[in-house]
Amino acid sequence: CGIVGYIGNEQAAPILLDGLSKLEYRGYDSAGIAVYNGEEIDMVKSKGRLKVLSELTHGGETLPGTLGIGHTRWATHGSPSDVNAHPHFNQDKSIVVVHNGIIENYLKLKKKLERHGYVFVSETDTEVIAHLLDYYYKGNPLEAVTKIMHRMEGSYALGIIFRDHPEELYAVRKDSPLIVGHTKGGSILASDVPAVLRYTRDVVFIENEEIVRMTTDSMEFFTVDEEPIEKQVTHIDWDV
Ligand code: GLU
Repeated sequence: CGIVGYIGNEQAAPILLDGLSKLEYRGYDSAGIAVYNGEEIDMVKSKGRLKVLSELTHGGETLPGTLGIGHTRWATHGSPSDVNAHPHFNQDKSIVVVHNGIIENYLKLKKKLERHGYVFVSETDTEVIAHLLDYYYKGNPLEAVTKIMHRMEGSYALGIIFRDHPEELYAVRKDSPLIVGHTKGGSILASDVPAVLRYTRDVVFIENEEIVRMTTDSMEFFTVDEEPIEKQVTHIDWDV
């Protein structure tokens, strides 16, 4: 039900945990974070309160790295459990995704992917996104993201990390809110403004079917046809 992502010069995990705590008011049943450690993607997730996740990771210390995504889940498909909590990996753990929303045609996509040999570990609709990205990924993350958008029906705000592109953080939305912004030493994304206010007051509201490619010091926006687009920055002058 909440998404946070970070890429920059700071440690990611404490920022993810802090951002998620600002989204707690929306309600959730489980939480998780994934952080790129310089070589691979580490993940910790758990049913229950954010406090549990924070304890499990010693406030994020056990997940070192400056690129990460985090999630608080409000289960729609699959019971609240550790394994159904987000993030979700593809099979070789080179792609990881967090998702708000519902993939309406996930069963059809799941059956197709299973015929191609993909093995699912959770009961969620979200896991199809990780495997579908894997299916379409041929070295170009943006291309893989646009391809899955053509196949998915439903609502989604996604944060995505490709292990083999560790200088980049991807986000996309359709019918589920998403914002991005620059912090002092990085870029941050979230499903709602309160999660980022501590880090920036200048945010970009992502519209339907828009894709963002973030690096430590840049944010680029694309249509589903991979056309670059210009976006306006909005200054937030209210407090929460
Ligand atoms: N449909 C997804 C799930 O049940 C995401 C739920 C959410 O938005 O938190 O895992």
